[in-house]
Amino acid sequence: MKCFYHPEQDAVGLCPECGKAACTDCMKDVGGGILCKGCIAQRLQAVHAESQAIQQDRQAIIDSARRKLKISKIVFIVFFCIGLLETVALVYASIASKDPQAPGFFVAVLGGLFGSFIVGYIAWSFFWGFPAIWRGLRSILSNMGCFVVLNPLTWLIVFVLFLMVAGFFGEWFSIFGGGLYQYLKFRRIARGEF
Ligand SMILES: [Zn+2]
Ligand SMILES: [Zn+2]
Repeated sequence: MKCFYHPEQDAVGLCPECGKAACTDCMKDVGGGILCKGCIAQRLQAVHAESQAIQQDRQAIIDSARRKLKISKIVFIVFFCIGLLETVALVYASIASKDPQAPGFFVAVLGGLFGSFIVGYIAWSFFWGFPAIWRGLRSILSNMGCFVVLNPLTWLIVFVLFLMVAGFFGEWFSIFGGGLYQYLKFRRIARGEF
C-alpha cells in the first residue's frame, strides 16, 4: 500500500477520517487522534472560516454601534435646530414687543439657546434610553406566552400600552443618566471594546 500523497512511499496506515492511506510524513497526531495531512488542512480551514465568521459578526456589531452614534448626533442637531427656530421667534418677539414685561434681548437669546440645548438633550437621551426600556418590556412580553393566543386587536392594545409605558419610563430613565449610560455603552462597542 502506497501513500496517497506520495505514490513512491509506503503507507503506514489509513486515515480514520477519509480512509486514505498515508506515510509517516503525511500522518500527524492532532491531539486525540491521527489524521492525514489533507484532513488536517481541511480542519484548519474550518477553524479559520469559523474565526472569520466571528470576526464578521463582531464587525457588524461595531458598524451598527457606529451608525447609532452618528444618528444620535443627528437627532441632537435636529432638535437643537428646532429649538433655535423657537429662539429666533423669541428674540424677534423680545425686540418687537412694546410690553415692558417682555423678556429683554439677552434673556431671550440665552434662554432660547439653553432651551434649545435642553430640547436637543431630551431627544438625544431618549434616543439612547428608550430602546433599552423597550427591549426590557418586550422580553417580558415574549416571556408571557399567553399573549400569543390573544386576538390581533387585544394584541394591538397591549402593544400600545407597552409602548406608552416604555415611553413614560424611557423618558425619565433617559433624561436622568440612562441615555448617557447607553451612549457610553455603544461608544465602547463602536471602539471594539467588548
Ligand atoms: Zn484523511
Ligand atoms: Zn506521504
